[in-house]
Amino acid sequence: MRIIILGNGVAGITTAKTVRELRPDVEIIVFAEEKYHYYSRPQIIEFLSGKVDDKGMIFYPEDWYSKNKIKVHLGVPAEKIDAEEKRVLVGDVIWDYDSLVIATGAKAFMPPFKGLPKKNVMTLRNLDDAKLIRSLLPKVRNVVIIGGGLLGLETARALSQAKSGLNMRILEKADYLLSRQLDKEGGGIIRALIEEMGTDVFTNVEVEEILGTDSVERVRLKDGRELEANLVIVSAGVRPNLELAKKSGLNINRGLIVDASLCCNRNAMIFAAGDVVEFEGGTYGIVPAALDQAKIVSKMILEMETPEYRGTIASNTLKVMGIDLTSIGVVNPPADGGFEEIRAKSDNGRIYKKFVLKDGKMVGAIILGSRKEVPRVSKMIKEGTVVAGLKARMRQTDFDFSGL
Ligand SMILES: Cc1cc2nc3c(=O)[nH]c(=O)nc-3n(C[C@H](O)[C@H](O)[C@H](O)COP(=O)(O)OP(=O)(O)OC[C@H]3O[C@@H](n4cnc5c(N)ncnc54)[C@H](O)[C@@H]3O)c2cc1C
Repeated sequence: MRIIILGNGVAGITTAKTVRELRPDVEIIVFAEEKYHYYSRPQIIEFLSGKVDDKGMIFYPEDWYSKNKIKVHLGVPAEKIDAEEKRVLVGDVIWDYDSLVIATGAKAFMPPFKGLPKKNVMTLRNLDDAKLIRSLLPKVRNVVIIGGGLLGLETARALSQAKSGLNMRILEKADYLLSRQLDKEGGGIIRALIEEMGTDVFTNVEVEEILGTDSVERVRLKDGRELEANLVIVSAGVRPNLELAKKSGLNINRGLIVDASLCCNRNAMIFAAGDVVEFEGGTYGIVPAALDQAKIVSKMILEMETPEYRGTIASNTLKVMGIDLTSIGVVNPPADGGFEEIRAKSDNGRIYKKFVLKDGKMVGAIILGSRKEVPRVSKMIKEGTVVAGLKARMRQTDFDFSGL
């Protein structure tokens, strides 16, 4: 039996690893567009800050692949799938498969700003992007990060660690930072912490134009202000890599559409996992979803029994040294949805916790400035535990704020 996996990110390689653990005898072939063996994308931030070098980025030693009989072809993107014939075209070679997994991930989104393209205006998605940014740093003094989400904040911090004295600015369209992970109150606390670290934050701003002759020189905002910049990193979300699926006639929308078996075409035994996937109208763009999906896909392609995919509860941690922030599940519930919100803030304003309940069960949380209850709260949310008397417990036990 031959299993072909397209993409060697966390979804593709976790599928390969899980399949091998389940079945020692099947043939596993991975085709990868990038020229590097699997590396963890979140670790790009450590690479950018200088804490990890390129060798340290590569997740498994070369012999892990041969020991596990996983054949990886690097630097060769799959071009087209022939679902009828169960074949895939890679370069000018046609490969037959028994099961196929599309794990082609996503790319960073570059909004069509006026004035683009310009040198030194870029996105950060892969190791080559990070290498290019690091190579530019010696000549850079004024940095503008467009996008105040997790990646924008982590990039700003990593660059400030990589080179001292940078003039770092973060621009955010919403009226507070991390608007997908936080509420307004939490966003205000994060802003103060980021500013304390020497980064200027602009909220409620939109970019009008990227100015400069060949390379970027300034960023003009819609309110008329201009910010000097010799490096601009755009962190404005991602878009699933759908070119292959589109060319191959698969069902796509915002992502590659899958059912609860993570299948896109049952007759042709085509499954998908990771950032490329659209499930029940949504895309995830986070590692926990790629892991959940890869584990189910591994069993599906081996025709083993597995529970259906029911979605992944979003869970994000900001990896900025000195700031503990975890955001899980529903954090900004609609006013009329029957949700209850319980919040508490320490007197010094540096610790903020919010729990969102529905029908007595915890469905979301923001934990800022503390880590100790994160594992417990994550478990409660994932398991849908009924949390009677949470308000009272916030005063009495672990959630006690009186001594802060
Ligand atoms: C800097 C950074 C930090 C991040 N930090 C976090 C974090 O802290 N927590 C978190 O949950 N998520 C984080 N993410 C998001 C996370 O990395 C992604 O959710 C995850 O990588 C998705 O895995 P994937 O395997 O689906 O896709 P990808 O990692 O995008 O891998 C897909 C691979 O497929 C390749 N490919 C594309 N087309 C083809 C083709 N036709 N043929 C063969 N190969 C192809 C691509 O080149 C790519 O290498 C971060 C992302 C970045 C960029």
